[in-house]
Amino acid sequence: MVIRTVVGVDIGNSTTEASLATIDADGSLEYVGAALTRTTGIKGTVKNVDGVAKSVVWALESAGLKVTDLDLILLNEATPVISGLAMETITETIITESTMIGHDPRTPGGKGLGVGTIVDFDSLSDVVAGTSIIVLVARGVDFEVVARGINAAVERGVDVTGAILCNDDAVLVANRLNIKIPIIDEVSRVDLVPKGMVAAVEVAGPGQSIRTLSNAYGLATIFGLDPDQTRVVSPVARALTGNRSAVVVRTPSGDVADRTIPAGSLELIGARKNATVDVSRGAADIMAEVERVSPLQDVKGEAGTNTGGMIANVRQSMADLSKHALADVHIQDLLAIDTAVPQEVRGGVAGEVALENAVALAAMVRTKESGMQAVADAVAEQLRALGAAKVEVLVGGVEAEMAVLGALTTPGTDKPLVVLDLGGGSTDAAVIRTDGATDATHLAGAGDLVTKLIDAELGLDNLELAEEIKRCPLGKVESFFHIRLENGTVQFFEKPLPATAFARVVALGDGGMSPIPTRHSLDRIRRVRRTAKERVFVVNALRALRGIAPGGDLRQIGFVVLLGGCALDFEIPELIADAVAPYGIVCGTGNVRGTEGPRNAVASGLVASYAARTAPVAVGADA
Ligand code: ADP
Ligand code: MG
Repeated sequence: MVIRTVVGVDIGNSTTEASLATIDADGSLEYVGAALTRTTGIKGTVKNVDGVAKSVVWALESAGLKVTDLDLILLNEATPVISGLAMETITETIITESTMIGHDPRTPGGKGLGVGTIVDFDSLSDVVAGTSIIVLVARGVDFEVVARGINAAVERGVDVTGAILCNDDAVLVANRLNIKIPIIDEVSRVDLVPKGMVAAVEVAGPGQSIRTLSNAYGLATIFGLDPDQTRVVSPVARALTGNRSAVVVRTPSGDVADRTIPAGSLELIGARKNATVDVSRGAADIMAEVERVSPLQDVKGEAGTNTGGMIANVRQSMADLSKHALADVHIQDLLAIDTAVPQEVRGGVAGEVALENAVALAAMVRTKESGMQAVADAVAEQLRALGAAKVEVLVGGVEAEMAVLGALTTPGTDKPLVVLDLGGGSTDAAVIRTDGATDATHLAGAGDLVTKLIDAELGLDNLELAEEIKRCPLGKVESFFHIRLENGTVQFFEKPLPATAFARVVALGDGGMSPIPTRHSLDRIRRVRRTAKERVFVVNALRALRGIAPGGDLRQIGFVVLLGGCALDFEIPELIADAVAPYGIVCGTGNVRGTEGPRNAVASGLVASYAARTAPVAVGADA
């Protein structure tokens, strides 16, 4: 009996997967090994060879076979799509004349609301009794001196209602005062705070946030504003929401502008319809237009605007990646997402940060013919060099069809079946109908976009950490020996936890815990993580299913199998299942070959399809 040793290899944007099988003369197939490794180079280019060779060799090792046993490698005809990401802020908060210090120091002192004229600490002795003032203390004045000075002024009858310090010693000063006033510190540019103006300082108790300065009518009450002026300061109130402390100074012409950056418009070019949509209208409107003009054939951004720049960047980076001329890069799908990212306020005096609205765009480009034959030739050469003397390499099999074939090896599945492949750059859907016919769709936006949203919204500037946060549950290190997990339970440790993690929110990975060096609460990080997943995967799952459901009716879909790296996520499958449950859809994570989980579907599908195609021929030849 002739037995052939065959390995199917799926080169993805992120991961290269191999599925090893032996096929005997009557076409019966036995899976014997599997392996995966990081894709080397851009999918569809010769650099992929190293990753392919590694996954093949590992798959053989996992089955106890030798390289010399290998007969055939099957490569997928990689869908020639690559995806790109861009993000632009579309609002900007600018402070002129230091109207507002939306400053949130780690440790403000005292508590309450103080309103008065700003007086320099050095001039405190000149203030006449009965005046309401806020003391402004420059860098380098000792806290003992500050406290003595304020106590003396109060004794003289000066109404000291609050203090603004440059040094980080609000608590030390507060502890030494005979009165209880709100004190904020760490105001780095004290020199920019205008003296002689009326200001308000508010500090909330621990764990609380300010009430008056974050309320437009609170500001109106304090500063005696008319309705027009109240409208002007309402962005101040908004920018201060959630802070534990804040200062607002009223200057004659001072202003906080909550400016909408002219974001520009997107021109969506569909097969039959076109549309122009202003990006500042937000993701929902953009996506409605994308759906209306679909199938999309290209997207252009308005020249000279942020949107124009954003689309140009995506196009250029994709042209660079795929080595195509710029003119050959066409955007076939677009996913827009509303987000809010922390940005330093222009004109601020203490590194104030405001949450600005931003739009993230994921675009998918269909490139020209793939260069898979060149990859196949290079793979053959490398494996022969490794000792696989008789190996042949074939390219074949449309990725989506292979994915369904692989998914069908999941126990409990049958045709008709829909698979959703949740990868790094794209969300791909394929359907196999009862008669075996298949159909597929590829959408922009997947795991990498989730990571990027988490990174931007938390202001991490660290994609590796953002990836950890995406993949792992959170905990808060409450003592050196225990962690409060995000589900409320407690985990105890025998050995003391690292000092760097103490009192921090941590991501609990397999390889230990990663402290998250920000001041965001556990709840906020969790919310950012989950909404990022929803806005990418729930939106894309519904878009994909509408794209392949008969007549766009989700009720016509019975079973959905989730595949790909993001199907391994601890909450994405749940989020998608919840979203499609109202349509009566059964949705679960695939278990390819009954052993591989959501991985290896395309690679296994390649082998299955080869076995099915060769079987009748082989039998015929023997007979
Ligand atoms: P591709 O088919 O494009 O190569 P994959 O199917 O390998 O992509 O999916 C890559 C994505 O899966 C990445 O965004 C990665 O963060 C995510 N991923 C991989 N492993 C896990 C895991 N264990 N938990 C959650 N997400 C994961
Ligand atoms: Mg894949």
